[in-house]
Amino acid sequence: MQNRRNFLVRSGLIGSALLTGGIKNDFFSKNIGIIKENSKMKLTFKPYTLELKHVFTLSTSSRSTTPVVLTKLEYDGVTGFGEASMPPYLGESHESAVKFLSKVDLAQFKDPFEIENILEYVDSIDDHNPAAKASVDIALHDLVGKLLGKPWYKIWGYDKEKTPDTSFTIGIDTNEVVKQKVKEADEFKILKVKLGRETDKEMIETIRSVTDKPITVDVNQGWKDKFFALDMINWLKEKNVKYVEQPMPKEMTDEMAWLTEKSPLPTFGDESVQRIPDVVKAHGVYSGINIKLMKCTGLREAQKMLTLAKSLHMQVMLGCMTETSCAISAASQLAPEVQWADLDGNLLISNDPFEGTKIIDGKIVLNENPGIGLSK
Ligand code: MG
Repeated sequence: MQNRRNFLVRSGLIGSALLTGGIKNDFFSKNIGIIKENSKMKLTFKPYTLELKHVFTLSTSSRSTTPVVLTKLEYDGVTGFGEASMPPYLGESHESAVKFLSKVDLAQFKDPFEIENILEYVDSIDDHNPAAKASVDIALHDLVGKLLGKPWYKIWGYDKEKTPDTSFTIGIDTNEVVKQKVKEADEFKILKVKLGRETDKEMIETIRSVTDKPITVDVNQGWKDKFFALDMINWLKEKNVKYVEQPMPKEMTDEMAWLTEKSPLPTFGDESVQRIPDVVKAHGVYSGINIKLMKCTGLREAQKMLTLAKSLHMQVMLGCMTETSCAISAASQLAPEVQWADLDGNLLISNDPFEGTKIIDGKIVLNENPGIGLSK
């Protein structure tokens, strides 16, 4: 026990845990992580709570914190970092992630290069917990990239010059706060706006009163009528909106296919597209898909979804939850291959423990750091 405690203190897990808000010590000490002495790879994890700079409002909920779990995967003196981000409405929590990660036994694997075998096994542990699974996937990719001495975009052969600008999300708020948020987003070339309320047009007009930058909109399933949705999209096109994400409820497949056919703007499925089989279902229903590591269990599946969507001539955007720079930097490794990116989750929080891929003048700029691109 003493050795284990020393290891946790050395690795920074206990010390940093004391700095995290909202986590009871007794909960933490019971669930701090599993170290299997016979394993060549050591997986450890800790709950952490992200503090948002602004209260974040969607069409369905508001919140000011997001629970995450940070993972570490060690092998041969090298450490990979990972993260599970779990907005409450998606059903995962500190407790569910800790429970899931406690079941992960990597002792059966010889080394971390067995990525497919390892992540197939992790996925098979249960049918749920996509974010907890992603935290293992990201740490494993970080570890393997570091062992190979290359960032993943290079391992995959992607061209770092092809990364898109990222949008910056302006949450639903009062007119004055919205104007303030637009000012704070000066560096960004594309703004993303959350719609799906009575005040949709007012929100767009408020932004248009202070900037003419391109806007993308995310309705988060908020429009229930296809004719209303089409009228809105026609209006939005005149306001220099570039695409519409998840305009209607995810179950309304036929209406959505009708809308996409008539829409003057590309439509993207987000809530309706979680994992690989959903890409095929989205074909002919949406113009494109929004890939997020936390929905699809991590980089391994995200890269397969990207390849599949492109082969179906669908557009691809990369999205995120509120996350630290760990998961954002991981997702950014795929950025050279997508048309649109919405990787601003780390910029919305005030207690990011990591540094990774940077946004410079609104553009995603990949670095040379091996693995997922973290510098700390
Ligand atoms: Mg969305």
